[in-house]
Amino acid sequence: TDLTGLLLSRIRDVPDHPEPGVVFKDITPLLADPAAFTALTDALAEVAGDTGATKVVGLEARGFILGAPVALRAGLGFIPVRKAGKLPGATLSQSYDLEYGSAEIEVHAEDLTAGDRVLVVDDVLATGGTAEASLELIRRAGAEVAGLAVLMELGFLGGRARLEPALAGAPLKAL
Ligand code: IMP
Repeated sequence: TDLTGLLLSRIRDVPDHPEPGVVFKDITPLLADPAAFTALTDALAEVAGDTGATKVVGLEARGFILGAPVALRAGLGFIPVRKAGKLPGATLSQSYDLEYGSAEIEVHAEDLTAGDRVLVVDDVLATGGTAEASLELIRRAGAEVAGLAVLMELGFLGGRARLEPALAGAPLKAL
């Protein structure tokens, strides 16, 4: 579609970043183009509406850049899921495995409660580890997962299949 073409034209492939053999998808050209950034925001806000979300969670750090305008456009609150140690209040945390070692993400416990339907927003779905941990956090907070919306999915990494159990029927939308 026109939207896909516009978005793709503003994503730069950076070979060998952050390490040899990896082609990094760089969205900074898209962020620098207000027409493309607006189109992306509108499309993700439409997903928020379609899923009946009541809150938008953004995953640090690019999920903040995309998720905040989506939340405002959809008329919903924005909740940051941060890397461990950054949030000042009482948190729920979830660790997950990386290729080497592990990582941990956190959310303010008071930000998500029973009755919330949460749409998670991020830029890139790769292996799905980060998104999976965020869905876990949302459920542990007592909230419901409305869906996961990303700008792009790196299909060859199998994130969609990995996320099936954690999504439990909630939609995964990759623009
Ligand atoms: P995953 O946990 O393997 O799915 O990795 C997803 C996380 O890593 C997301 O928060 C992305 O922002 C980031 N990420 C992985 N690959 C890329 C990329 O090529 N471009 C930008 N971000 C990426």
